[in-house]
Amino acid sequence: NNLKKHFPITKGIFSKEVGAVKAVDGLSFTINKGETLGIVGESGCGKSTAARMIIRLIESSEGSIRLEGQEISEINGKKLRAIRKDIQMVFQDPFASLNPRWTVRRTLLEPMKVYGIGKQRDREEKVYDLLNKVGLDESYAYRHPHEFSGGQRQRIGIARALVLNPKLIIADEPVSALDISVQSQVINLLQDLQEEYDLTYLFITHDLSVVEHIADRVAVMYLGKIVELADKEKLFNNPLHPYTEALISAAPEVETENKKERIILSGDVPSPANPPKGCPFHTRCPKAMDICKEETPKFKETFEGQYTACHLY
Ligand code: SF4
Ligand code: MG
Repeated sequence: NNLKKHFPITKGIFSKEVGAVKAVDGLSFTINKGETLGIVGESGCGKSTAARMIIRLIESSEGSIRLEGQEISEINGKKLRAIRKDIQMVFQDPFASLNPRWTVRRTLLEPMKVYGIGKQRDREEKVYDLLNKVGLDESYAYRHPHEFSGGQRQRIGIARALVLNPKLIIADEPVSALDISVQSQVINLLQDLQEEYDLTYLFITHDLSVVEHIADRVAVMYLGKIVELADKEKLFNNPLHPYTEALISAAPEVETENKKERIILSGDVPSPANPPKGCPFHTRCPKAMDICKEETPKFKETFEGQYTACHLY
């Protein structure tokens, strides 16, 4: 709720604060158990920063994060350790996130050891079971990351995320480093696993066709804010926010009921160190009005289940 991350900009030898990069600027959303919430936006919109705050890799500047009702934005020590078990992350680059010197077996056993879960026998059983579930098998257990393809490494990354039975899995661009032909296999795997284990995903991507495939609801981010959030069908068939409209119109692979002609946005995304006054999108919005330069539109429920931040509504 109202999650923010402002990185201070400092100047001079006394590090005087002269401003802030508003990387994440007031996000509010809910993820329901068993669903996939997709967060989509261009690079630099703040989606990865948001993920890192939720998993407590970086501290939020403001706002609240609750997991099953428990406030987790300011916990530390033992409590934080427990939460780290409940929220697992699948990273974009599976190679960078796996220890190159560890066998797959060790990579998957270690988290259970650290958290003291089960006896060694149970743990090993779980490792072999998970390897099968992600489409690898026992024969892979004693190999190292460099012996695998990118897709296989991501399968290992997914198995590792599952080892501790997390309540939430945050996947940050989990397929964007993979070959196109492998992307859909990994996405299908994530969906199969979700069904089998009733998993809950926060799925972050810049790729609309990926969220169209995997998400139940979608949040669209622009310059550190959510500009629209809705069920996938509503968002794709009837986008309300001009930015969502432009994104969808520019993604030829996305199928919607009323496909519009391609909307070309002029200009670049402004710097989050110096976001425009009023609506952050007004410098590029084809529908901007006078009020848009002055007043920041509130993020509100525009139609049932469809939230937008735009003065048109
Ligand atoms: Fe465009 Fe104004 Fe809506 Fe912003 S508030 S998206 S500038 S119409
Ligand atoms: Mg990112």
